[in-house]
Amino acid sequence: MVMVTESFGRVTLSKMDGLPAGFEVIPVTGLDTLLPGPTLIRIRGRKEPPLFISVLLHGNEISGFLALQEVLKPFSGGKAQPARTIFLFIGNVAASAKNIRRFAHEPDYNRIWNGGKLPEQLMAHRLLDIMKKEGVFACIDMHNNTGKNPHYSCINRVTAEFLNLALLFSPTIVFFTEPHEVISKAFSGFCPSVTVECGLSGEREGTGHLVRFLELCLQMDKVPDTQPEIPYSLFHTTAKISLREEAEIFFGKNPESSGITLVENLDSLNFRHQEPGTFLGYSSYENTGLLVTDNRGRDVTEKYFALDRSQIRTTKHIIPSMLTKDKTVIRQDCLGYIMEHYLP
Ligand SMILES: [Zn+2]
Repeated sequence: MVMVTESFGRVTLSKMDGLPAGFEVIPVTGLDTLLPGPTLIRIRGRKEPPLFISVLLHGNEISGFLALQEVLKPFSGGKAQPARTIFLFIGNVAASAKNIRRFAHEPDYNRIWNGGKLPEQLMAHRLLDIMKKEGVFACIDMHNNTGKNPHYSCINRVTAEFLNLALLFSPTIVFFTEPHEVISKAFSGFCPSVTVECGLSGEREGTGHLVRFLELCLQMDKVPDTQPEIPYSLFHTTAKISLREEAEIFFGKNPESSGITLVENLDSLNFRHQEPGTFLGYSSYENTGLLVTDNRGRDVTEKYFALDRSQIRTTKHIIPSMLTKDKTVIRQDCLGYIMEHYLP
């Protein structure tokens, strides 16, 4: 194993040839004893160009890492070779060691892929340069949700290749263009690219699903560029739901005297059609306490939600996704998204 490092202020990108010894057994919280920080690992295989895989951009979303430990086990020590060369990027190692999404002082590692001058953004830019020069077969980024959601794939372009890659994981596919600073969007400029969202972190079923998906990707000779023959559901993310800066948030049956109190089962609404007038909770404020922004960043809250005698209700038909009750995620990222069926 040879290691080369490149520093960008507080962030150092390490590059390795071959998996470090012990990779297949290390608990994710011990990963910082094996890797100094964000690391790009090349595992030589029998075919080129390489498959690019990223994992742990969010430090506490570990299913992808657990799946890789299983899939890559036969290749540790360099005895056997995978069917295709892999470039594996392990993102926020320090956050993983602490079982958190990210540290407060640093940007979200899946929002640094569209330029900028922060050390993390410079590192991301460098990594994209390396991968563009290598040429990439396909890009896979693995995540978990914090609320209840089906397993689904996300794509940033709607073409036959992108759909076919997404379908290897799930017939539920979400097309999104915002946030535009994600890794899958950056790679979508030069290779088929998919983000897979694999339920709650660490669930055995999710890890098994990812193992099967990764093995299919490694075996594949070419991402088919003909229209998919199997049925699928394609959604388009049209708006993001955030909490207004000053709002306090609670979950439960009875309204808190100050703040917004959303229904206990909020995340069970994900990927389900919600009719106009659907009850979402209570607000003690003069507004819903929620902020909905469209893909151009405009405030479109009133198009979707209204406050009627302190009750927050939908005003139009919506399909929510990624609704979460995790207050850290709500503050650091958002409450969830609004989708529509997508008709190309
Ligand atoms: Zn994530």
